[in-house]
Amino acid sequence: MAQRVAVNDGASGSKRTSRVRVAVRLRPYMDKQDEKGEGPCVRGLDPQKLEIINWRNATETLQYQFDVFHGEQTTQQEVFLTSVKPTLPLVLNGQNASVFAYGPTGAGKTHTMLGSQEQPGIIPRAVKEVFKLVEAQKKEQDGWEYSVGMSYLEIYNEKVLDLLSPGSQDLPIREDKDRNILIPGLTHTPLSSFSDFDTHFVPASLNRTTASTKLNQRSSRSHAILLIKVVKSQRGPPHRQQTGKLYLVDLAGSEDNRRTGNQGIRLKESGAINLSLFTLSKVVDALNAGAGGRVPYRDSKLTRLLQDSLGGSAHSVMITNIAPEYRYYFDTFSALNSAAKSKQIVNRPFVRETVLAPTIAPGKRAREEREAGGSGEPQNKRSKEGKRAEQSSSPPVHPQSSPDSSVLDRLMALEKMMMGSAERERLNLLKTVAQSRKEIQMLKEKQKELEDKANMFNKQNETTEKEAKDALLFKTDLPPLHRKQSTAAKPRKQQAVVTPLQVSQVLPLQQCAVVCKPSQILDKKKKKRVQTEVCEGKENGGADPPSADGVNWESHLDSALLEQSRKKILQTLNSGSLKDLKSLQLIGDKKAKLIMGWREIHGDFTQLEDLRKLEGITAKRFSSFIKANILSSMGK
Ligand code: ADP
Ligand code: MG
Repeated sequence: MAQRVAVNDGASGSKRTSRVRVAVRLRPYMDKQDEKGEGPCVRGLDPQKLEIINWRNATETLQYQFDVFHGEQTTQQEVFLTSVKPTLPLVLNGQNASVFAYGPTGAGKTHTMLGSQEQPGIIPRAVKEVFKLVEAQKKEQDGWEYSVGMSYLEIYNEKVLDLLSPGSQDLPIREDKDRNILIPGLTHTPLSSFSDFDTHFVPASLNRTTASTKLNQRSSRSHAILLIKVVKSQRGPPHRQQTGKLYLVDLAGSEDNRRTGNQGIRLKESGAINLSLFTLSKVVDALNAGAGGRVPYRDSKLTRLLQDSLGGSAHSVMITNIAPEYRYYFDTFSALNSAAKSKQIVNRPFVRETVLAPTIAPGKRAREEREAGGSGEPQNKRSKEGKRAEQSSSPPVHPQSSPDSSVLDRLMALEKMMMGSAERERLNLLKTVAQSRKEIQMLKEKQKELEDKANMFNKQNETTEKEAKDALLFKTDLPPLHRKQSTAAKPRKQQAVVTPLQVSQVLPLQQCAVVCKPSQILDKKKKKRVQTEVCEGKENGGADPPSADGVNWESHLDSALLEQSRKKILQTLNSGSLKDLKSLQLIGDKKAKLIMGWREIHGDFTQLEDLRKLEGITAKRFSSFIKANILSSMGK
């Protein structure tokens, strides 16, 4: 009997998590896709970089860097050679790999994966190469047997459907004791050659569920997943066996369903599609962030299915397909941001050199983008400088004045969400600055005190020659702190000047900002209570009378911190995983799922008050929720 053995990835230990490589492929500009003849809004810069017009300011572009950038001239063969071929020998050695085509409908995912008769894509090239490698290895190592097989399935509306057995029901996804993912009941067809593959694959492809959307007549609403399995078995004892899996995935379109006009049942499909794509991007993000954090594989069917072939010791590449026309702007922006989440984003002002036709003024361009109904869209992360530059110099966008205001609203919301970590950094920085200011203030006071003392000392010792000499040190015009650095004044006095630096023991700003915390919160955090009390004593000359529960509690809090907490809660509501949501006060499993479902269908919560729209969230519950979460986030 063949015996399964765990195969170690030569380069990385089996425990090590591989990064998902991210490639971007820009398809050629297609005139007929650009009814207004606006030209492209995105272009390549070098083999890793591209830039897209900044929707906030047409005189700037946003630049992104990826592992690989495939420009519009890149051939199918080049994409295959760079992104896929190097991983195939590993599959023949019992390792797993996955290749995804991601991006908006119409941007070239199917072209990249499947291609055409004249320009075959990754799937036919990879299968051909697998057979070629098998033949070559058979010649080299005659103690082994190889068998190649395929399964082909789609995930449609969070249901797993077997494309080789049309009419089958939603299939379950299981994990065996070796942590391999299995789909009991899924057809597995042995293949003897490439033409054998073709015979089974082509008709099965036609079984794919497709429906038209405003964006593309042949838009795919499902994720198509081709699995090529290579089993390598040793002929003689100890009959070792290695199984390598290669997943080739043509993902459903990443476009925003509010733009494609999907409603009713389609909207439901979009919600489900977005759940899988949303989870996939979180999984990729978690893998690329490394450090062994939780990878939310189980949050969607797609990621659960790919669990053993994405991350771990598997080799994965995500090819994000984008289209250059303005009508794809929002979706391109969105796709780039999603793909670049864990990449370095380069965002420099790009003065007077844009991809726009020079005849169109920035203002007009921005208007036209909005009118194009789809031009303005995804937000991306930008560097802090970039954001600041935009805020200060870009012409304000007035979403209400445009028929496509929702697109701009979405852009801004998206941007806010994606800014998450940068925003946090900014707030931390602000906190540090505030604290430094406080320290400087104290230093100044201390300095003044010392100067006063010195003056007094001066006066008292005017008659003593030696002491008068000392006093001269304080009569100089230089500010005392400078003098300390630039003179050889007596060390004892210099030390006195710098003493206030010890003020670093000053209470953290956040704790001081809570002028009066309700006593029950204080009880929970003894340590903080002590500090808070100090704070109270300082600011109020004693503790405030405990406020009546729920009455005016917000007025006791620092408004900036209050706003920050509300933002943080909103961010969790919009982008938190089930676990994140459950970590919110007063949110259990049921409510967390309700929230996830709501946002899949309706999109982001624009304000915390939107929670009221959820079933079972009464006004009273809502206010308890807000209070508990704000106080708890401040107590952290
Ligand atoms: P998607 O699968 O993302 O919806 P498609 O692969 O169907 O997009 O591509 C949309 C159209 O663009 C198709 O007509 C396709 O042939 C064409 N296309 C996409 N990428 C390229 C490319 N790199 N070169 C030439 N044509 C392309
Ligand atoms: Mg397609």
